[in-house]
Amino acid sequence: MLSLPEEIRELALRLDASDSLPAYAYDLGALAAHTAAIRAALPRSAEFYYAVKANPDTPVLRAIATHADGLEISSGGELAHVSAAVPGVPLVFGGPGKTGAELSAAVRAGVHRFHVESPHELRLLAAAAAADCRTVDVLLRVNLAAPTCATRGPAALVMGGASPFGMDVALLAECASVLSGLDNGAVRLRGLHAHTASGLDAADLLAVSARLLGFGRDWCASAGVPAPEFNLGGGMAVDYRQPGTVFDWATYGQGLASLVRPGETLRIEPGRAVTAYCGWYLSRVLDVKHSHGEAFAVIAGGTHHLRTPAAKGHDQPFAVIAVERWQAPWPRPGVGQAAVTVCGQLCTPKDILARRAGVQQLRAGDLIAFGLAGAYAWNISHQSFLMHPPPAFHYL
Ligand SMILES: *Cc1c(COP(=O)(O)O)cnc(C)c1O
Repeated sequence: MLSLPEEIRELALRLDASDSLPAYAYDLGALAAHTAAIRAALPRSAEFYYAVKANPDTPVLRAIATHADGLEISSGGELAHVSAAVPGVPLVFGGPGKTGAELSAAVRAGVHRFHVESPHELRLLAAAAAADCRTVDVLLRVNLAAPTCATRGPAALVMGGASPFGMDVALLAECASVLSGLDNGAVRLRGLHAHTASGLDAADLLAVSARLLGFGRDWCASAGVPAPEFNLGGGMAVDYRQPGTVFDWATYGQGLASLVRPGETLRIEPGRAVTAYCGWYLSRVLDVKHSHGEAFAVIAGGTHHLRTPAAKGHDQPFAVIAVERWQAPWPRPGVGQAAVTVCGQLCTPKDILARRAGVQQLRAGDLIAFGLAGAYAWNISHQSFLMHPPPAFHYL
């Protein structure tokens, strides 16, 4: 069950009264408390960077930056945005397809760690660093074979195995020889990075990390990396079917504490599990009707504002806020005690936010508050498709 905070309910009613829906609401107080709790659950020796791509909204970044150790960026666009929004916060730069221009900008910005995805990228970075007379610190992104991943549920997004992400042992060896051929000291190898899958629970994630560390310690020893660092990635699960259940940070933190060895640095970079819970997408039901025996509700807005359910293939959890006012002189469309499919305003059958969701009552003019809408939501949506107006943004 999704529990709707009273402040979100009141905000939705207020916005509806001034005809200002759909809108996003971010609960920054809840976000700051959640981020602080994550930091507190981790061992002191582990570093916590937030993956900006999950939600780069400026007030959201500011709320996180006061509690996290830094931010993980994945593009030159994120670098520029983060540098302006939260200047001075330590950054790590990952992601495939970094351009020479992006790497140069990141070198000049003094990025803390670069996560290198290929031998070519390593050469590009070395050239960018040398051109600027700087030394950069590098983790090589590892991609171990998929079968070394732990068991995982259907919700997991897997990036290990044959994929554009990271490097297998052959490419790692090539990087080592590129590094030994550099005589200008522009690149310092610090350790390895791995982000193998998203959507794992604490036990699965720890098992994946233990395998990476087993491989990584040997590899770093043979490559002569002193005091190695291991970035274990993100991927902590958010369960959209059970919005009241959150990732077990306490168990995960204890697991990291038992995995780390003296002299090592462990770093994580979660995104979804940090911001998902603070975001709400608030809208109004425009129409309710039956089609071939099934009930459909059409809301203002849709997946062009909240693409998460379409992208992940789940039902977005929501709460209904009843509005008694009904001014039209004809009967109010609605359903009671029914399974209803909640759709948006787009002319595509894919514009579905929740399928056959059970509701007590849902009528045109009622409000809907979608929860878990703070990660991979507005910023991954196809916002100009059909040219409906954008939502407004509100902060609590
Ligand atoms: C997307 C991504 C993350 C964050 O993943 P979540 O599932 O949002 O925690 C971390 N690291 C890398 C390299 C990523 O691509």
